[in-house]
Amino acid sequence: MAFRVFVDNEKCKGCEECLEVCTVNVFEMRKGKSIPVYEGECIGCRSCVEVCKEKAIAVDELKPEMSETAYLLLREILSD
Ligand code: SF4
Ligand code: SF4
Repeated sequence: MAFRVFVDNEKCKGCEECLEVCTVNVFEMRKGKSIPVYEGECIGCRSCVEVCKEKAIAVDELKPEMSETAYLLLREILSD
């Protein structure tokens, strides 16, 4: 499962709470703002969303895209 981690730079006040709470170290501070540099490590616990008082963070589950081959195969199976 993959997750998209978004930080709204306008809202982020640089308190670093999200860095403290994230057990897989997704965030790094850059110029006083939290950046989800290692987004690929996210396990979707949403602790960062809860801890951020500025409501600057959003975490969404990425739905896997179906490949063209898988789609054609599925269509073939269903049309039988
Ligand atoms: S917890 Fe929110 S305000 Fe604090 S650094 Fe993280 S994103 Fe910015
Ligand atoms: S949802 Fe959890 S793992 Fe993902 S960035 Fe936030 S605290 Fe880290």
